[in-house]
Amino acid sequence: MGAMIGAGRDAAADPSSLRSHNLGIVMRMLRDHGSLSRKEIEHNTGMVAASVTNLVADLHDRGLVRDVRGGVGEARRRGRPRILVEAVPDRCVALAVRVARTRVTAELHSSAGLLLDSSSRGVTLAWGQPGDIAHAIADLVKRAEARAAEHGAVLLACVVTMPGPVGSDNRIADTAEFGWGHLELVNLIHTAGVRRDLAVDVINDSNAAALAEHAALPVPRPPVMLYIEGSVGSGIGGGVVADGRILTGGRGYGGELGHVTVDWRGRACVCGANGCLAAYIGPDALLTSARLTDLAQMAGPQAALDEFRARLDRGEKRAVDVAIRAGDILGAAMRSVYDVVNPTALVLGGYLAGMRRWLEPGLQLQLAPRTERLAPLAIESGRLGRRAGLVGAARHGLTAMFDDPTLVPVLRREAAVSEPA
Ligand SMILES: [Zn+2]
Repeated sequence: MGAMIGAGRDAAADPSSLRSHNLGIVMRMLRDHGSLSRKEIEHNTGMVAASVTNLVADLHDRGLVRDVRGGVGEARRRGRPRILVEAVPDRCVALAVRVARTRVTAELHSSAGLLLDSSSRGVTLAWGQPGDIAHAIADLVKRAEARAAEHGAVLLACVVTMPGPVGSDNRIADTAEFGWGHLELVNLIHTAGVRRDLAVDVINDSNAAALAEHAALPVPRPPVMLYIEGSVGSGIGGGVVADGRILTGGRGYGGELGHVTVDWRGRACVCGANGCLAAYIGPDALLTSARLTDLAQMAGPQAALDEFRARLDRGEKRAVDVAIRAGDILGAAMRSVYDVVNPTALVLGGYLAGMRRWLEPGLQLQLAPRTERLAPLAIESGRLGRRAGLVGAARHGLTAMFDDPTLVPVLRREAAVSEPA
């Protein structure tokens, strides 16, 4: 995994990869639409009946789908009951891990989005030192393997989310928070005892959240979606989701919407550049403009942000002015991004979701030269809140199965149809 766009997807299809591809189409369809009849799968995919029967039989042998009696109260009362195919909700699972300063938190999610287990471990991380983090994660993986076995499930991946940039080679870039310059975390995790054939992936936490928020939107989902979130811990994070995958570009560092330039001679940003969006709508910038820095120092930045929000709700002029101006700046940045990837939806997360009412006028105004002349952009609030990162990390970990369901072993031999293995 790692590189998400392009990697191998245009490779010429040999018969077995074509078959994997078609199996993946059926699995994604069942994930997104729930149970379907074989006829509906034929209709939606344009595949012939024999192919659908054969593919469904293969998925059945792998324990990925099952037949269910469907359509209570449907029009067809006479005749045989309608048999539908549905995905088995917990045959495949992925472990999502969030790394923070003093804790690693893990959730075990099934391919149907069920939360099967959650746990955490305390860690001690000195700046620039990975400390015992790899062992803590290995411990969480061991627990996940045991839980997966109890469910008869296959653990497909462990996806670790980090604040700050992560390259497509899983390398963590230097971050202000951890100081882990190009740490080989995946290798450390395997060395700490995680089997080498388990896919371990490290991704940016906002990218993971973007993927989850995209999946939470109703079908048909936007082909290109922008996600931007604000939080006390990580400032302004963002992500771009294209064709249902995280778009991170050639080396994995793309999608950093918080670092779009809004003023090339502007304020210094933590990333080392000047005039980034994050330097204007990040928590410190908002609290300074709203004259809440004293409160932030006394009661902490989260309490100060809560007070800022309370002042917005009361309609206090200074707070409202700050939020409206933040909307203008955010809108200008998103107009630049619009010109590059032509998004059809923008989802606001973290404290930006709570500010949406005040951000939207500026966003609409700044985007109008594009959205009125070219194509509209839907603006939404995130639906998952703080859960988004772990939900998205698990979904990312399960992507490999939806691309190639043959990663999941066959359960029973006698019913195998035609796959020569
Ligand atoms: Zn920056």
